[in-house]
Amino acid sequence: MLSRAQLARAHHSFAQSRLFNASPSAVRPSRGRLGRVCASQSALSSSKSRALTVAASLVFGSSIALAACAFYFRAGTQKTSYATPAELSRAISELQVRLPGAQKVVTDVEVVRAYGASDNSYHPSSPHAVVVRPESTEDVVAIVNIARKFRVPITAYSGATSLEGHFAGYPSGSICIDLSGMDKILTINESDADLTCQAGARWEDINDELKERGIPLFFPLDPGPGATIGGMVGTGQHLPANAVRYGTARAEWFLNLTVVLPNGEVIKTKRRARKSATGFDTTKLFIGAEGTLGIVTEATLRLAPLLPTKVAMAQFPDVEHAVSAVQEILASPYGSNVRKPISHHVIHENPSTDLGAPFPDAYTYPYLRMCRTAR
Ligand SMILES: Cc1cc2nc3c(=O)[nH]c(=O)nc-3n(C[C@H](O)[C@H](O)[C@H](O)COP(=O)(O)OP(=O)(O)OC[C@H]3O[C@@H](n4cnc5c(N)ncnc54)[C@H](O)[C@@H]3O)c2cc1C
Repeated sequence: MLSRAQLARAHHSFAQSRLFNASPSAVRPSRGRLGRVCASQSALSSSKSRALTVAASLVFGSSIALAACAFYFRAGTQKTSYATPAELSRAISELQVRLPGAQKVVTDVEVVRAYGASDNSYHPSSPHAVVVRPESTEDVVAIVNIARKFRVPITAYSGATSLEGHFAGYPSGSICIDLSGMDKILTINESDADLTCQAGARWEDINDELKERGIPLFFPLDPGPGATIGGMVGTGQHLPANAVRYGTARAEWFLNLTVVLPNGEVIKTKRRARKSATGFDTTKLFIGAEGTLGIVTEATLRLAPLLPTKVAMAQFPDVEHAVSAVQEILASPYGSNVRKPISHHVIHENPSTDLGAPFPDAYTYPYLRMCRTAR
């Protein structure tokens, strides 16, 4: 858990988090590019102010909360100046010294352009100045410190499956931190049903590893193929396919995060123990933050027991009947066992399902697939 001093330092570092890039998803589309980024930052800044006011109220009392609120609202209106081209070039030189080795610091035009774009997103793309590939928390600390020293914006990049333009570079030149190489599983505690891994570990690889070792547990949040733990924390994973039974990233699946804050400090948001009534939940502050409050480098995950699964398919004449059936089942005593009802839209687009056979007339009739875990 964070001490009060650490918490105060973390709050201070949020003011510096304007270095950490945000996706354009929360931004009005009618503005120019620079306007969009600034609007995004001030939106984040005001929501941060609200969160910090609540947090400070709880921890320090209302007078300090008011002071914190005033400080952050003032910080939100100050103009941030980023690195000049000369400073950017010095930042890249320092990164090359700190991260020696082939492909650790990449400025190749094609690479920086690819990292600033995504086929999954309709938002405009924009290249980064440099892509860096850390291998450890210490590497990330070094990158963040260099970025802060030269005022270069940072974008965290992991599985690259997010859908809302999260990767676009910043026009004055940005550092893209590719965490996909930090994908090691560090410890598995079968008896406690938890696992600690680096943030670049992919959810499918984690589940494959557990299966290979014969451990009857799995990590139930299942977004796009290739998504990583760090990216799932970053996006908040609002709708994994298993959400009906297991909830979203905001449930208790992330027990502890190791995070590099904008001031270079490394914090752990909690201990591994599941039961803790101490203080407010710092872990949740980082869930859905899109990397703007810090870079997650490690995570301890809660695992769920593997249960035998049965699959049922039902055909409905229209969407209304399908939705009514789902509502009825969820409200029944068996409701909590339903794992994922899939809508007809999905089936429409994927007539060949993972059940092995194509749905008959999938384009003509809506289908509902429901997985029910056995009692
Ligand atoms: C085919 C497909 C199906 C999908 N299905 C679903 C679905 O069913 N449900 C659902 O919710 N989503 C779904 N998604 C969206 C996507 O899989 C999720 O948003 C996923 O959580 C992103 O993880 P990622 O590793 O790809 O992160 P990225 O796309 O690399 O990054 C996502 C965000 O997190 C930040 N970030 C990345 N790594 C870190 C880190 N280490 N520390 C801090 N911040 C970080 C990034 O800066 C960015 O803002 C789908 C996507 C695709 C392409």
